[in-house]
Amino acid sequence: MKKADIGVIGLGVMGHNLALNFERHGYRVALYNRTAEKTRSLLASAKPDQQLIGTYSLEEFCAHLERPRRILLMVQAGKPVDDMISALQPLLEPGDILIDGGNSYFLDTERRHETLKDTGILYVGMGISGGEEGALWGPSLMPGGPYQAWENLAPMLRDIAAKAEDGEPCVDYIGPRGAGHYVKMVHNGIEYADMQLIAETYHLLKNALGLSAYQLADIFEKWNQSELQSYLIQITAEVLRKRDDETGHPLVDMILDEAQQKGTGKWTSQNALDVGAAVPTISAAVDMRILSAFKHERVQASRILSGPTKAYQGDPANLINLTQQALYASKMIAYAQGMGLLRQASLEYGYDLKLDRLAAIWRAGCIIRARLLGDITAAYQSDPGLVNLLLAPAFRDTLASHHQALREVIKIGIDLGIPMMGMSTALAYYDAYRSERLPANLIQAQRDYFGAHTYRRIDRDGIFHTEWT
Ligand code: NAP
Repeated sequence: MKKADIGVIGLGVMGHNLALNFERHGYRVALYNRTAEKTRSLLASAKPDQQLIGTYSLEEFCAHLERPRRILLMVQAGKPVDDMISALQPLLEPGDILIDGGNSYFLDTERRHETLKDTGILYVGMGISGGEEGALWGPSLMPGGPYQAWENLAPMLRDIAAKAEDGEPCVDYIGPRGAGHYVKMVHNGIEYADMQLIAETYHLLKNALGLSAYQLADIFEKWNQSELQSYLIQITAEVLRKRDDETGHPLVDMILDEAQQKGTGKWTSQNALDVGAAVPTISAAVDMRILSAFKHERVQASRILSGPTKAYQGDPANLINLTQQALYASKMIAYAQGMGLLRQASLEYGYDLKLDRLAAIWRAGCIIRARLLGDITAAYQSDPGLVNLLLAPAFRDTLASHHQALREVIKIGIDLGIPMMGMSTALAYYDAYRSERLPANLIQAQRDYFGAHTYRRIDRDGIFHTEWT
Protein backbone atom coordinates (compact mmCIF):
# COMPACT_ATOMS: atom_id res chain seq x y z
CA MET A 1 0.00 0.00 0.00
CA LYS A 2 1.29 3.47 -0.91
CA LYS A 3 2.33 5.34 2.21
CA ALA A 4 0.81 8.60 3.38
CA ASP A 5 2.39 12.02 2.76
CA ILE A 6 1.19 13.31 6.09
CA GLY A 7 -0.65 12.04 9.15
CA VAL A 8 -3.16 13.86 11.32
CA ILE A 9 -3.66 12.96 14.98
CA GLY A 10 -6.79 14.40 16.58
CA LEU A 11 -9.84 14.43 14.34
CA GLY A 12 -11.90 17.02 16.20
CA VAL A 13 -13.27 20.13 14.51
CA MET A 14 -9.88 21.31 13.24
CA GLY A 15 -8.02 18.05 12.61
CA HIS A 16 -10.91 16.58 10.62
CA ASN A 17 -11.07 19.54 8.28
CA LEU A 18 -7.32 19.98 7.92
CA ALA A 19 -7.05 16.30 6.93
CA LEU A 20 -9.68 16.85 4.21
CA ASN A 21 -7.90 20.03 3.09
CA PHE A 22 -4.60 18.12 2.61
CA GLU A 23 -6.43 15.33 0.79
CA ARG A 24 -8.21 17.77 -1.55
CA HIS A 25 -4.77 19.06 -2.57
CA GLY A 26 -3.65 15.60 -3.66
CA TYR A 27 -1.93 14.41 -0.49
CA ARG A 28 -2.46 10.98 0.95
CA VAL A 29 -3.39 11.39 4.63
CA ALA A 30 -3.12 8.90 7.51
CA LEU A 31 -5.65 9.44 10.30
CA TYR A 32 -5.59 8.66 14.00
CA ASN A 33 -7.89 9.71 16.83
CA ARG A 34 -7.89 8.60 20.48
CA THR A 35 -11.55 7.66 20.13
CA ALA A 36 -11.71 5.29 17.15
CA GLU A 37 -15.31 6.26 16.39
CA LYS A 38 -14.23 9.66 15.02
CA THR A 39 -11.80 8.01 12.60
CA ARG A 40 -14.50 5.59 11.43
CA SER A 41 -17.08 8.29 10.94
CA LEU A 42 -14.66 10.47 8.93
CA LEU A 43 -13.90 7.50 6.67
CA ALA A 44 -17.59 6.62 6.41
CA SER A 45 -18.41 10.13 5.17
CA ALA A 46 -15.50 10.18 2.69
CA LYS A 47 -15.82 9.29 -0.99
CA PRO A 48 -14.26 5.92 -1.98
CA ASP A 49 -11.55 7.59 -4.08
CA GLN A 50 -10.41 9.90 -1.26
CA GLN A 51 -6.84 9.20 -0.20
CA LEU A 52 -7.46 8.67 3.50
CA ILE A 53 -5.95 5.87 5.57
CA GLY A 54 -7.66 5.12 8.87
CA THR A 55 -5.41 3.75 11.61
CA TYR A 56 -6.27 2.56 15.11
CA SER A 57 -2.98 2.55 16.98
CA LEU A 58 -0.01 4.93 16.95
CA GLU A 59 2.20 2.06 15.73
CA GLU A 60 -0.08 1.45 12.74
CA PHE A 61 -0.28 5.21 12.14
CA CYS A 62 3.51 5.68 12.11
CA ALA A 63 4.01 2.60 9.92
CA HIS A 64 1.77 4.13 7.25
CA LEU A 65 3.77 7.34 6.92
CA GLU A 66 6.35 8.07 4.23
CA ARG A 67 9.77 8.92 5.72
CA PRO A 68 10.68 11.43 6.94
CA ARG A 69 7.31 11.29 8.63
CA ARG A 70 5.17 14.39 8.77
CA ILE A 71 2.69 14.38 11.64
CA LEU A 72 0.19 17.09 12.49
CA LEU A 73 -1.05 16.96 16.08
CA MET A 74 -4.47 18.60 16.44
CA VAL A 75 -5.33 17.61 19.99
CA GLN A 76 -6.37 19.79 22.90
CA ALA A 77 -3.56 22.08 24.08
CA GLY A 78 -1.79 21.26 27.35
CA LYS A 79 -1.25 17.80 28.80
CA PRO A 80 -2.73 15.92 25.79
CA VAL A 81 0.08 17.34 23.64
CA ASP A 82 2.76 16.21 26.11
CA ASP A 83 1.14 12.78 26.40
CA MET A 84 1.00 12.40 22.62
CA ILE A 85 4.64 13.45 22.21
CA SER A 86 5.72 10.90 24.84
CA ALA A 87 3.70 8.16 23.15
CA LEU A 88 5.02 9.01 19.68
CA GLN A 89 8.67 9.60 20.54
CA PRO A 90 9.72 5.90 20.63
CA LEU A 91 8.01 5.36 17.26
CA LEU A 92 9.75 8.21 15.46
CA GLU A 93 13.20 8.48 13.87
CA PRO A 94 15.63 11.38 13.35
CA GLY A 95 14.40 13.66 10.60
CA ASP A 96 10.72 13.01 11.27
CA ILE A 97 8.65 16.17 11.66
CA LEU A 98 6.15 16.59 14.46
CA ILE A 99 3.87 19.61 14.16
CA ASP A 100 1.69 20.86 17.01
CA GLY A 101 -1.09 22.80 15.29
CA GLY A 102 -3.13 23.50 18.43
CA ASN A 103 -3.25 26.68 20.47
CA SER A 104 -0.34 25.69 22.69
CA TYR A 105 1.16 28.24 25.05
CA PHE A 106 4.42 29.36 23.43
CA LEU A 107 6.52 28.59 26.53
CA ASP A 108 5.23 24.99 26.39
CA THR A 109 6.40 24.88 22.78
CA GLU A 110 9.80 26.26 23.84
CA ARG A 111 10.04 23.52 26.49
CA ARG A 112 9.03 20.75 24.06
CA HIS A 113 11.53 22.04 21.51
CA GLU A 114 14.24 21.87 24.18
CA THR A 115 13.28 18.29 25.10
CA LEU A 116 13.21 17.06 21.50
CA LYS A 117 16.08 18.99 19.97
CA ASP A 118 18.72 16.31 20.61
CA THR A 119 16.53 13.44 19.39
CA GLY A 120 16.67 14.50 15.74
CA ILE A 121 12.88 14.85 15.68
CA LEU A 122 12.04 18.22 14.14
CA TYR A 123 9.45 19.86 16.35
CA VAL A 124 7.26 22.54 14.79
CA GLY A 125 4.87 24.75 16.80
CA MET A 126 2.37 26.00 14.25
CA GLY A 127 -0.34 28.56 14.93
CA ILE A 128 -3.44 27.99 12.85
CA SER A 129 -6.22 30.52 12.44
CA GLY A 130 -9.46 30.41 10.50
CA GLY A 131 -11.67 28.18 12.61
CA GLU A 132 -13.59 25.26 11.18
CA GLU A 133 -14.15 26.74 7.72
CA GLY A 134 -10.59 27.99 7.42
CA ALA A 135 -9.21 24.57 8.30
CA LEU A 136 -11.18 23.06 5.42
CA TRP A 137 -10.88 25.75 2.75
CA GLY A 138 -7.68 27.59 3.66
CA PRO A 139 -6.38 28.75 7.03
CA SER A 140 -3.65 31.22 7.88
CA LEU A 141 -0.68 29.19 9.10
CA MET A 142 2.14 30.35 11.39
CA PRO A 143 4.81 27.62 11.61
CA GLY A 144 7.83 28.08 13.87
CA GLY A 145 10.66 25.73 14.75
CA PRO A 146 13.65 24.31 12.83
CA TYR A 147 14.05 25.93 9.40
CA GLN A 148 14.87 22.49 7.95
CA ALA A 149 11.33 21.38 8.83
CA TRP A 150 9.86 24.44 7.13
CA GLU A 151 11.80 23.67 3.93
CA ASN A 152 10.26 20.20 3.90
CA LEU A 153 6.73 21.35 4.76
CA ALA A 154 6.53 24.57 2.74
CA PRO A 155 5.02 23.15 -0.49
CA MET A 156 2.25 21.30 1.38
CA LEU A 157 1.48 24.19 3.70
CA ARG A 158 1.39 26.64 0.78
CA ASP A 159 -1.09 24.33 -0.94
CA ILE A 160 -3.55 24.14 1.94
CA ALA A 161 -3.23 27.74 3.15
CA ALA A 162 -5.66 30.53 2.31
CA LYS A 163 -4.64 32.69 -0.62
CA ALA A 164 -4.53 36.48 -0.31
CA GLU A 165 -6.04 38.68 -3.04
CA ASP A 166 -2.72 38.72 -4.92
CA GLY A 167 -2.64 34.90 -4.82
CA GLU A 168 0.07 34.68 -2.17
CA PRO A 169 -0.41 31.76 0.28
CA CYS A 170 -1.05 32.86 3.85
CA VAL A 171 1.83 30.95 5.37
CA ASP A 172 5.48 31.70 5.96
CA TYR A 173 8.29 30.63 8.23
CA ILE A 174 7.77 32.60 11.44
CA GLY A 175 10.93 31.93 13.43
CA PRO A 176 12.69 29.47 15.74
CA ARG A 177 11.31 27.45 18.68
CA GLY A 178 8.00 28.85 19.99
CA ALA A 179 7.80 31.76 17.52
CA GLY A 180 4.83 30.33 15.61
CA HIS A 181 2.72 29.84 18.70
CA TYR A 182 3.82 33.21 20.06
CA VAL A 183 2.60 34.96 16.93
CA LYS A 184 -0.68 33.02 16.99
CA MET A 185 -1.17 34.08 20.61
CA VAL A 186 -0.76 37.77 19.71
CA HIS A 187 -3.02 37.28 16.67
CA ASN A 188 -5.70 36.13 19.13
CA GLY A 189 -4.99 39.05 21.45
CA ILE A 190 -5.57 41.44 18.55
CA GLU A 191 -8.72 39.47 17.72
CA TYR A 192 -9.99 40.03 21.29
CA ALA A 193 -9.42 43.78 20.95
CA ASP A 194 -11.07 43.95 17.52
CA MET A 195 -14.14 42.07 18.80
CA GLN A 196 -14.39 44.29 21.87
CA LEU A 197 -14.24 47.48 19.78
CA ILE A 198 -16.98 46.16 17.48
CA ALA A 199 -19.07 45.19 20.50
CA GLU A 200 -18.75 48.69 21.97
CA THR A 201 -19.85 50.20 18.66
CA TYR A 202 -22.89 47.90 18.67
CA HIS A 203 -23.67 48.77 22.30
CA LEU A 204 -23.44 52.52 21.72
CA LEU A 205 -25.56 52.60 18.55
CA LYS A 206 -28.12 50.21 20.01
CA ASN A 207 -28.58 52.21 23.22
CA ALA A 208 -28.10 55.75 21.95
CA LEU A 209 -30.28 55.39 18.87
CA GLY A 210 -32.54 52.52 19.91
CA LEU A 211 -31.72 50.61 16.72
CA SER A 212 -32.89 47.04 16.26
CA ALA A 213 -30.46 44.22 15.52
CA TYR A 214 -31.65 44.20 11.90
CA GLN A 215 -31.06 47.95 11.52
CA LEU A 216 -27.60 47.47 13.02
CA ALA A 217 -26.99 44.61 10.57
CA ASP A 218 -27.60 47.07 7.71
CA ILE A 219 -25.05 49.48 9.17
CA PHE A 220 -22.35 46.83 9.62
CA GLU A 221 -23.04 45.48 6.15
CA LYS A 222 -22.50 48.95 4.71
CA TRP A 223 -19.34 49.42 6.76
CA ASN A 224 -18.03 46.18 5.32
CA GLN A 225 -17.83 47.97 1.96
CA SER A 226 -15.59 50.66 3.50
CA GLU A 227 -12.09 50.88 4.97
CA LEU A 228 -13.47 48.73 7.81
CA GLN A 229 -13.93 45.75 5.49
CA SER A 230 -13.01 42.64 7.46
CA TYR A 231 -14.18 39.15 8.35
CA LEU A 232 -15.24 40.27 11.85
CA ILE A 233 -17.41 43.12 10.51
CA GLN A 234 -18.90 40.76 7.91
CA ILE A 235 -19.87 38.13 10.48
CA THR A 236 -21.16 40.83 12.84
CA ALA A 237 -23.65 41.87 10.15
CA GLU A 238 -24.64 38.24 9.60
CA VAL A 239 -25.00 37.58 13.34
CA LEU A 240 -27.19 40.68 13.79
CA ARG A 241 -29.45 39.61 10.92
CA LYS A 242 -30.07 36.09 12.26
CA ARG A 243 -33.58 35.43 13.56
CA ASP A 244 -34.22 33.03 16.44
CA ASP A 245 -36.55 30.32 15.11
CA GLU A 246 -38.01 29.66 18.55
CA THR A 247 -39.02 33.20 19.55
CA GLY A 248 -38.92 35.12 16.27
CA HIS A 249 -36.62 37.71 17.90
CA PRO A 250 -33.16 38.53 16.59
CA LEU A 251 -31.03 35.68 17.91
CA VAL A 252 -28.36 38.04 19.27
CA ASP A 253 -30.94 39.55 21.65
CA MET A 254 -31.62 36.10 23.09
CA ILE A 255 -27.97 35.30 23.86
CA LEU A 256 -26.75 35.63 27.45
CA ASP A 257 -24.25 38.51 27.77
CA GLU A 258 -21.44 36.52 29.41
CA ALA A 259 -18.36 36.23 27.19
CA GLN A 260 -16.18 33.16 27.63
CA GLN A 261 -12.50 32.83 26.87
CA LYS A 262 -10.00 30.08 26.31
CA GLY A 263 -6.92 31.99 27.45
CA THR A 264 -5.01 33.30 24.44
CA GLY A 265 -6.12 36.92 25.07
CA LYS A 266 -5.12 36.65 28.71
CA TRP A 267 -1.75 35.14 27.77
CA THR A 268 -1.16 38.05 25.38
CA SER A 269 -1.84 40.58 28.13
CA GLN A 270 0.27 38.72 30.67
CA ASN A 271 3.15 38.35 28.27
CA ALA A 272 2.99 42.01 27.25
CA LEU A 273 3.60 42.89 30.90
CA ASP A 274 6.55 40.48 30.94
CA VAL A 275 8.25 41.88 27.84
CA GLY A 276 7.38 45.50 28.67
CA ALA A 277 4.99 46.33 25.84
CA ALA A 278 1.82 48.38 26.35
CA VAL A 279 -1.30 46.67 24.96
CA PRO A 280 -4.07 48.38 26.95
CA THR A 281 -6.80 47.75 24.40
CA ILE A 282 -6.09 44.00 24.33
CA SER A 283 -6.10 43.99 28.15
CA ALA A 284 -9.34 45.99 28.16
CA ALA A 285 -10.91 43.34 25.96
CA VAL A 286 -9.87 40.62 28.42
CA ASP A 287 -11.12 42.73 31.35
CA MET A 288 -14.47 43.30 29.67
CA ARG A 289 -14.92 39.56 29.13
CA ILE A 290 -14.11 39.03 32.80
CA LEU A 291 -16.59 41.75 33.86
CA SER A 292 -19.24 40.34 31.56
CA ALA A 293 -18.98 37.01 33.35
CA PHE A 294 -20.14 38.64 36.63
CA LYS A 295 -23.68 38.66 35.31
CA HIS A 296 -25.33 38.03 38.65
CA GLU A 297 -23.39 40.82 40.37
CA ARG A 298 -24.06 43.20 37.48
CA VAL A 299 -27.77 42.60 37.71
CA GLN A 300 -27.67 43.45 41.43
CA ALA A 301 -25.41 46.47 40.90
CA SER A 302 -27.63 47.81 38.12
CA ARG A 303 -30.31 48.32 40.79
CA ILE A 304 -27.97 49.96 43.32
CA LEU A 305 -25.41 52.08 41.47
CA SER A 306 -26.54 55.24 39.73
CA GLY A 307 -25.43 56.70 36.41
CA PRO A 308 -26.67 59.07 33.73
CA THR A 309 -30.26 58.65 32.63
CA LYS A 310 -30.38 61.08 29.74
CA ALA A 311 -31.07 60.08 26.15
CA TYR A 312 -28.97 60.93 23.10
CA GLN A 313 -30.26 64.15 21.55
CA GLY A 314 -27.98 64.48 18.51
CA ASP A 315 -28.39 63.62 14.86
CA PRO A 316 -28.50 59.81 14.36
CA ALA A 317 -26.79 59.91 10.95
CA ASN A 318 -23.96 61.96 12.42
CA LEU A 319 -23.47 59.49 15.28
CA ILE A 320 -23.36 56.55 12.86
CA ASN A 321 -20.77 58.37 10.80
CA LEU A 322 -18.66 59.34 13.82
CA THR A 323 -18.84 55.79 15.19
CA GLN A 324 -17.60 54.35 11.93
CA GLN A 325 -14.56 56.62 12.06
CA ALA A 326 -14.03 55.94 15.78
CA LEU A 327 -14.12 52.20 15.20
CA TYR A 328 -11.55 52.43 12.43
CA ALA A 329 -9.26 54.72 14.43
CA SER A 330 -9.41 52.54 17.56
CA LYS A 331 -8.88 49.41 15.47
CA MET A 332 -5.73 50.93 13.94
CA ILE A 333 -4.45 51.78 17.41
CA ALA A 334 -5.21 48.28 18.74
CA TYR A 335 -3.36 46.68 15.82
CA ALA A 336 -0.45 49.06 16.45
CA GLN A 337 -0.32 47.81 20.04
CA GLY A 338 -0.29 44.17 18.90
CA MET A 339 2.43 44.79 16.32
CA GLY A 340 4.40 46.73 18.96
CA LEU A 341 4.24 43.71 21.25
CA LEU A 342 5.49 41.45 18.45
CA ARG A 343 8.39 43.82 17.81
CA GLN A 344 9.35 43.87 21.48
CA ALA A 345 8.97 40.10 21.91
CA SER A 346 11.06 39.45 18.82
CA LEU A 347 13.97 41.21 20.52
CA GLU A 348 13.29 39.60 23.90
CA TYR A 349 13.11 36.02 22.61
CA GLY A 350 15.39 36.30 19.56
CA TYR A 351 12.57 35.36 17.17
CA ASP A 352 13.68 37.72 14.37
CA LEU A 353 10.06 38.28 13.36
CA LYS A 354 9.37 39.94 10.02
CA LEU A 355 6.39 42.12 10.79
CA ASP A 356 5.53 42.73 7.14
CA ARG A 357 5.35 38.96 6.57
CA LEU A 358 3.12 38.45 9.61
CA ALA A 359 0.67 41.08 8.42
CA ALA A 360 0.85 39.58 4.91
CA ILE A 361 -0.13 36.08 6.06
CA TRP A 362 -3.03 37.49 8.08
CA ARG A 363 -4.59 39.05 4.97
CA ALA A 364 -6.74 35.96 4.35
CA GLY A 365 -7.80 32.79 6.11
CA CYS A 366 -7.56 34.05 9.68
CA ILE A 367 -10.15 35.63 11.96
CA ILE A 368 -8.55 39.10 11.89
CA ARG A 369 -8.33 39.23 8.10
CA ALA A 370 -9.15 42.76 7.05
CA ARG A 371 -8.44 45.36 4.41
CA LEU A 372 -6.32 47.11 7.06
CA LEU A 373 -3.80 44.24 6.98
CA GLY A 374 -2.84 45.17 3.42
CA ASP A 375 -1.97 48.65 4.72
CA ILE A 376 0.00 47.21 7.64
CA THR A 377 1.95 44.96 5.27
CA ALA A 378 2.74 47.95 3.04
CA ALA A 379 3.78 50.08 6.02
CA TYR A 380 6.37 47.53 7.21
CA GLN A 381 7.53 46.77 3.68
CA SER A 382 8.32 50.41 3.02
CA ASP A 383 9.96 50.84 6.45
CA PRO A 384 11.09 47.53 8.03
CA GLY A 385 12.53 49.45 11.00
CA LEU A 386 9.22 51.17 11.80
CA VAL A 387 9.15 51.55 15.59
CA ASN A 388 5.39 52.05 15.86
CA LEU A 389 2.71 51.52 13.25
CA LEU A 390 1.08 54.80 14.29
CA LEU A 391 4.05 56.62 12.73
CA ALA A 392 3.60 55.08 9.27
CA PRO A 393 2.37 57.87 6.93
CA ALA A 394 -0.93 56.14 6.09
CA PHE A 395 -1.72 55.55 9.77
CA ARG A 396 -0.57 58.98 10.89
CA ASP A 397 -2.75 60.66 8.27
CA THR A 398 -5.87 58.55 8.91
CA LEU A 399 -5.59 59.08 12.64
CA ALA A 400 -5.15 62.82 12.09
CA SER A 401 -8.53 62.85 10.34
CA HIS A 402 -10.26 60.30 12.63
CA HIS A 403 -9.05 60.91 16.19
CA GLN A 404 -11.59 63.68 16.78
CA ALA A 405 -14.43 61.26 15.96
CA LEU A 406 -12.97 58.80 18.46
CA ARG A 407 -12.98 61.53 21.13
CA GLU A 408 -16.57 62.51 20.30
CA VAL A 409 -17.84 58.93 20.41
CA ILE A 410 -16.16 58.20 23.76
CA LYS A 411 -17.66 61.43 25.16
CA ILE A 412 -21.12 60.35 24.02
CA GLY A 413 -20.59 56.94 25.62
CA ILE A 414 -19.53 58.64 28.87
CA ASP A 415 -22.56 60.95 28.78
CA LEU A 416 -24.90 57.98 28.34
CA GLY A 417 -23.09 55.76 30.85
CA ILE A 418 -22.09 53.19 28.22
CA PRO A 419 -18.75 51.51 28.98
CA MET A 420 -16.24 52.23 26.20
CA MET A 421 -13.23 50.54 27.77
CA GLY A 422 -11.66 49.42 24.48
CA MET A 423 -12.06 52.72 22.67
CA SER A 424 -11.01 54.74 25.72
CA THR A 425 -7.79 52.77 26.14
CA ALA A 426 -7.06 53.06 22.43
CA LEU A 427 -7.38 56.83 22.58
CA ALA A 428 -5.36 57.03 25.81
CA TYR A 429 -2.59 54.96 24.18
CA TYR A 430 -2.62 57.29 21.17
CA ASP A 431 -2.51 60.40 23.34
CA ALA A 432 0.19 58.95 25.61
CA TYR A 433 2.36 57.87 22.69
CA ARG A 434 2.16 61.31 21.05
CA SER A 435 2.92 63.14 24.34
CA GLU A 436 6.33 64.71 24.48
CA ARG A 437 5.92 65.07 28.23
CA LEU A 438 3.93 62.72 30.44
CA PRO A 439 3.35 63.12 34.20
CA ALA A 440 5.92 60.42 34.96
CA ASN A 441 8.08 63.20 36.47
CA LEU A 442 5.60 63.35 39.35
CA ILE A 443 5.65 59.56 39.70
CA GLN A 444 9.44 59.63 39.88
CA ALA A 445 9.28 62.32 42.57
CA GLN A 446 6.78 60.28 44.59
CA ARG A 447 8.95 57.17 44.27
CA ASP A 448 11.97 59.10 45.45
CA TYR A 449 9.95 60.60 48.32
CA PHE A 450 8.76 57.33 49.82
CA GLY A 451 11.45 54.90 48.72
CA ALA A 452 14.56 56.91 47.84
CA HIS A 453 14.33 55.38 44.37
CA THR A 454 16.15 58.40 42.83
CA TYR A 455 15.33 60.27 39.62
CA ARG A 456 17.03 61.83 36.62
CA ARG A 457 16.79 65.53 35.72
CA ILE A 458 15.95 67.18 32.41
CA ASP A 459 18.76 69.74 32.67
CA ARG A 460 21.81 67.58 33.48
CA ASP A 461 23.06 63.99 33.55
CA GLY A 462 23.24 61.94 36.71
CA ILE A 463 21.09 60.19 39.30
CA PHE A 464 19.54 62.38 42.02
CA HIS A 465 17.88 61.95 45.38
CA THR A 466 16.14 64.62 47.44
CA GLU A 467 15.36 64.77 51.15
CA TRP A 468 11.74 65.80 50.55
CA THR A 469 10.79 66.77 54.10
P1 NAP B 1 -11.95 19.46 19.45
O1 NAP B 1 -12.93 19.48 18.35
O2 NAP B 1 -12.42 19.59 20.85
O3 NAP B 1 -11.07 18.14 19.31
C1 NAP B 1 -10.10 17.82 20.27
C2 NAP B 1 -9.29 16.65 19.80
O4 NAP B 1 -8.29 16.42 20.77
C3 NAP B 1 -10.12 15.38 19.64
O5 NAP B 1 -9.64 14.69 18.53
C4 NAP B 1 -9.79 14.65 20.94
O6 NAP B 1 -9.89 13.26 20.84
C5 NAP B 1 -8.35 15.03 21.12
N1 NAP B 1 -7.90 14.85 22.49
C6 NAP B 1 -8.31 15.54 23.57
N2 NAP B 1 -7.67 15.10 24.67
C7 NAP B 1 -6.85 14.11 24.25
C8 NAP B 1 -5.92 13.28 24.91
N3 NAP B 1 -5.70 13.39 26.22
N4 NAP B 1 -5.23 12.39 24.16
C9 NAP B 1 -5.45 12.28 22.85
N5 NAP B 1 -6.31 13.05 22.17
C10 NAP B 1 -7.00 13.96 22.86
O7 NAP B 1 -10.83 20.61 19.30
P2 NAP B 1 -10.48 21.51 18.03
O8 NAP B 1 -11.39 22.69 17.99
O9 NAP B 1 -10.30 20.68 16.81
O10 NAP B 1 -9.06 22.09 18.50
C11 NAP B 1 -7.86 21.35 18.46
C12 NAP B 1 -6.72 22.32 18.75
O11 NAP B 1 -6.73 23.35 17.74
C13 NAP B 1 -6.86 23.04 20.09
O12 NAP B 1 -5.58 23.29 20.61
C14 NAP B 1 -7.51 24.35 19.71
O13 NAP B 1 -7.26 25.36 20.65
C15 NAP B 1 -6.84 24.63 18.38
N6 NAP B 1 -7.58 25.52 17.48
C16 NAP B 1 -8.94 25.47 17.38
C17 NAP B 1 -9.60 26.34 16.51
C18 NAP B 1 -11.09 26.31 16.36
O14 NAP B 1 -11.62 27.24 15.74
N7 NAP B 1 -11.78 25.29 16.87
C19 NAP B 1 -8.86 27.23 15.73
C20 NAP B 1 -7.46 27.23 15.84
C21 NAP B 1 -6.83 26.37 16.71
P3 NAP B 1 -11.24 12.47 21.23
O15 NAP B 1 -12.11 12.50 20.01
O16 NAP B 1 -10.79 11.11 21.59
O17 NAP B 1 -11.86 13.21 22.39
